[in-house]
Amino acid sequence: MELTSLNDVRDLMNRHDFRCQKKLGQNFLVDANIINTIIKQAELDELDIAVEIGPGLGTLTKKIAEKCRIILAIELDRKLVPILNETLAFADNATVIHNDALKINYDNLVKHCSSNYFPDKKQDYKVIANLPYYITTPLIMHLLENGFNFSDMVVMVQEEVARRMTASPGTKDYGALSLAVQFYTKAKILKKVSKHVFIPRPEVGSALVKLQRREKYPVAVDDTKTFFSIIRAAFGKRRKTLINALSNSTLGVSKEQWSSIIKSAGIKPTRRSEELGIDEFAALYEFYVEYRANY
Ligand code: SAM
Repeated sequence: MELTSLNDVRDLMNRHDFRCQKKLGQNFLVDANIINTIIKQAELDELDIAVEIGPGLGTLTKKIAEKCRIILAIELDRKLVPILNETLAFADNATVIHNDALKINYDNLVKHCSSNYFPDKKQDYKVIANLPYYITTPLIMHLLENGFNFSDMVVMVQEEVARRMTASPGTKDYGALSLAVQFYTKAKILKKVSKHVFIPRPEVGSALVKLQRREKYPVAVDDTKTFFSIIRAAFGKRRKTLINALSNSTLGVSKEQWSSIIKSAGIKPTRRSEELGIDEFAALYEFYVEYRANY
């Protein structure tokens, strides 16, 4: 069975009486070239542990399994489990986990599934996925904000989300997602991907993105939770000035106090959040923390 052959895929789905569900973001890859590109970009070797989010029919999973030591594939749709048992029957190193990718503690999962191999080592792993688009942003944030120990991610996302992840200050795509992705990782758009490589075809354009976890954050921040609550508050009211967005937030600081924090950080309060670079948000954070410590 060739999972990039439309006939084989239709036959597999018919035998299992399976219909794609739009609400689960089920747009399956049926193109050998894009699968090869994903595998190449993931730079897998025989010692690697890979985590795939949403294996679907197992098309990408099979190829990942050929290149790495362990592949853990997390699939929410129960109806896909018997299909995966069939398509991955010969991949002894593949484990299908029927669960919601948004609820997984990835470090615990990897530790649990690979403890026979390196019992005492904090194990890193690679995340690879053609993501279900309805959860792209929460899933990326879940992986980043919980500080999970993945080394890199190669993921297919909506083109618009790929632009937001990699956007620079002063552009329309720049926002809280850009700052989070660029704080934790080095992010790069590898290529735009045609709708023709999926069945059914998605309504939006796609792009393949690589995120490499940074060894060191680009700015000094001890309390990332507070740092990102300031960033989220600043972008909460996009067209407002920085001072108005922050004063209308739930951070519990008055407009006058924000004015003094913003000025101490060397920023003009009438600037808009989308103009601020990560170093300016770090300065804002520093003076906010100092203010909270003293009042
Ligand atoms: N990897 C396959 C491929 O490339 O052909 C399928 C990718 S498809 C875009 C997304 C997959 O994620 C589907 O199989 C879908 O059922 C699954 N999925 C959707 N929501 C999920 C969730 N919350 N947790 C885990 N898997 C999920």
